[in-house]
Amino acid sequence: MKTLHFATLPGDGIGPEVMEVALEVLSQAGKRHDFAIDTSAHDVGGVGIDNHGAALPDSSFEACRAADAILFGSVGGPKWENLPPKEQPERAALLPLRKAFRLYANLRPGNLYPELSDLSPLRPETVANGIDVLCVRELTGGVYFGQPKETRQLDNGEEEAVDTMVYRSSEIERVTDVAITAAKLRGRRICSVDKANVLETSVLWRRVVSEKMAANAPDLELSHMYVDNAAMQLVRDPTQFDVILTENMFGDILSDELAVICGSLGMLASASLGADKNKHDLPFGLYEPAGGTAPDIAGQNLANPCAQVLSSALMLRYSFGLEDAASSIENAVKAAIRDGLRTGDVAQGGDTVSTTDMGTAIVERLP
Ligand code: NAD
Repeated sequence: MKTLHFATLPGDGIGPEVMEVALEVLSQAGKRHDFAIDTSAHDVGGVGIDNHGAALPDSSFEACRAADAILFGSVGGPKWENLPPKEQPERAALLPLRKAFRLYANLRPGNLYPELSDLSPLRPETVANGIDVLCVRELTGGVYFGQPKETRQLDNGEEEAVDTMVYRSSEIERVTDVAITAAKLRGRRICSVDKANVLETSVLWRRVVSEKMAANAPDLELSHMYVDNAAMQLVRDPTQFDVILTENMFGDILSDELAVICGSLGMLASASLGADKNKHDLPFGLYEPAGGTAPDIAGQNLANPCAQVLSSALMLRYSFGLEDAASSIENAVKAAIRDGLRTGDVAQGGDTVSTTDMGTAIVERLP
């Protein structure tokens, strides 16, 4: 029997509530798919600041280092909002984790089940069959990190600010590999998004993606799209996409656009894969819901646990290679929604269930 060793960082607000559900679903899935989970919970975010004086306490960081993956909840809340920006929970916990584990690929599935299509702001006929797109975003390069990055005083007294967009072919190649792996598990189509009509980095991006795909995945379909067109096409007809592969800033914007057209943050998972391999010779990864700590409903057993549960399914798929178990969890979530179970965020005025009841419903539907 395979034992999955991962660090659990529930965080603040609804984090601990939805994490409890995810751990129960994982443990029940393990009984059916022959794996055991070996994990312990560690403080992170606001609770880290309160209990240890740091958003990412050393003990939590060490637990992550000893693990094969991190299952993360979410961090932050009104209590810590007045701290200096660098000490705020999100920035002081997630950025060091991204840096330490060299998390270079962010996967954001945009999933809207047909039963929830009314939640999308898009026209009903556009999303009648739901949405199923995966955005693979490069996370450590591009204009957010390139040097120089500064504001300087010019001789004429004016100020000038500069950001530098820079990409190396190796950075483009490794994120393309992630998109290839993901596309093979899905619809086998990759749309690479760039701005190659204007940007040097995009010209390199397009060439390297094309070469990498031709060499390593000639059987997958590859298309290219300018980012301005991609932003329009996502709202015009998101169903035309399978995997979107793009650089850091474009991915930041497009993945949030995708989240909005899918209707509810409570349903959306995410994964960030690192450059290092874990003991299973698979990418070390950090898995977390796309939403935040939802302070407005925290502590009331009202939160939607699906995003956390689906994040744990991504962990099984990418860091532990357990595709069957991952799909069975995803199918159990789908089945619970199909059977009409809804937390408040997706109920649209209909009957609602609690966080824990939604968890029970998912477990009951595990094949
Ligand atoms: P949020 O995502 O927490 O909440 C936005 C809205 O979505 C709220 O109405 C909330 O109730 C709802 N929502 C989100 N997740 C839900 C779920 N699982 N079930 C039901 N409803 C859900 O965003 P916000 O209000 O802008 O931020 C609140 C706090 O979370 C802030 O401190 C922010 O910094 C933090 N935050 C953390 C992360 C992270 O840890 N990665 C991400 C975003 C925001």
